[in-house]
Amino acid sequence: MNKSKLSSLLKECEQQGINGLLFQHIVLCPTRTWLHYHRIDCAHLNRHMQSGIFLHETAYGGVAAHHFGFGISPDMLDFKKREISEIKKSKSHETATMSQLLFYMLVIQQATQQTWTGRLRYPNSRRTKRIELDRQAQSDLLAAFEQITTIIVQPQPPEKVSKKICKHCSYRMLCWFESTEDRDY
Ligand code: SF4
Repeated sequence: MNKSKLSSLLKECEQQGINGLLFQHIVLCPTRTWLHYHRIDCAHLNRHMQSGIFLHETAYGGVAAHHFGFGISPDMLDFKKREISEIKKSKSHETATMSQLLFYMLVIQQATQQTWTGRLRYPNSRRTKRIELDRQAQSDLLAAFEQITTIIVQPQPPEKVSKKICKHCSYRMLCWFESTEDRDY
C-alpha cells in the first residue's frame, strides 16, 4: 500500500474520531464497535477491565506511555529502539490486540517518518511477540477501517450475536442484562 493511501486513512480516522480501540473492537464484535464509537461506555463496571488497568500500572512501572501525543495511548514507547508495546494479561483475543497495535504503529510511523516495530507483552508469562507493519498488516488495517466506517454510520447498533467473549464484555449488562459479576470466571 502506498504512503498517501495510509496518510488518507489516518486523516479519515482523525476527522471521524476513529481511535485505536475501535480497531480492536471491530475484530471482536460489531455491536461493541458501534457502542464504543457512540460513547456508550460500561468499562468501569467490568472487573476484568479493572484488573487490566491494575496490570498496566504495575507490570512495567516507570515506562508507561498513557495518553501520549498523536491521539493514541500505547502502553509503552521506546524511542531508542523505535518500539511500541501493548501489555496484556493473556494471549486471548491476540488478533484484536494486534489490530489496535498496528493502528498505533501506523500513527507513530507517519508522525516520526521512521519505521517502528510493535511488541505484544505478556508479563504474567514473560512472553513477547514482535509485530511488523508489513504489506499484509497494512491491508488488514485498511480492511478493518472499512468495516468500522460501515458500522459506525448506522443509526442503530448492529444486531447483537451471543458469542464466547460476551461473558467478559463490559457491555454484557447492556446487551444481555447480565452483570460480569454474576459468576466467578
Ligand atoms: S456483550 Fe457480546 S454482543 Fe454485546 S457488545 Fe459485548 S461482545 Fe458484543
